[in-house]
Amino acid sequence: MKFTFIPFFSFLLLLSSVNASEATEKVWTEPVVVEPKYDGVPVAAPAGAVILFDGVDASKWKQLPRKEDADQTDRFRWKVENGYMEVVPRSGMISLLQPVITSGHLHIEWATPAEVKGNGQGRGNSGIFIGGFPELQVLDSYENKTYFDGQAGAFYKHRPPLVNACRNPGEWQCYDIHIERAKTAGPSVVTVYQNNVLVQDHEKFPGEVKAGLLQLQDHLNPVRFRNIWFKPAP
Ligand code: MG
Repeated sequence: MKFTFIPFFSFLLLLSSVNASEATEKVWTEPVVVEPKYDGVPVAAPAGAVILFDGVDASKWKQLPRKEDADQTDRFRWKVENGYMEVVPRSGMISLLQPVITSGHLHIEWATPAEVKGNGQGRGNSGIFIGGFPELQVLDSYENKTYFDGQAGAFYKHRPPLVNACRNPGEWQCYDIHIERAKTAGPSVVTVYQNNVLVQDHEKFPGEVKAGLLQLQDHLNPVRFRNIWFKPAP
């Protein structure tokens, strides 16, 4: 049998290079640090907004215990005090009882611990899960390096924030999340401001979900949340 070695070897090389490029994660550039434009004062809910957490009443929320937790009930167990709720590590994430996040404007204020502990993903980690979209990362990204699509303002492992607009650890920060759910066909579109700075600009996601839950992550760090409201689009 006549064997044409060089073309065959080139073919193998081509195959291996295709596999290598598929296995490579997307390379992002580091978001530039910019001045945040939020002073930490609670932002009043506009007319027509639904209050999801007012700093006192957590009755619209339930616990989602992890398999290994002793208490498997959905009794709400995060700390509620001084006008905020705080993650109780190993209590599990919390969820709204009702999927009320349709199209509209979701406002959430959050603070990572003032006492800085840990590094990278281990510092002030929580997260915002809106039904139909990847986690919007909550992290202390003030002078805390991690992978860019895992820092504050990122859609986790999907897209980094356009810039790093973090305030100092312990200071109140805010997300303003503008959601346009897909009507009949086409994607849903999400735009996010962190501390009044654009960090996600019309990100598109497959649009099957019409009304989603809102869930907040227990990532073992005592992150705080307050003043959560949603104003449905007209
Ligand atoms: Mg997280």
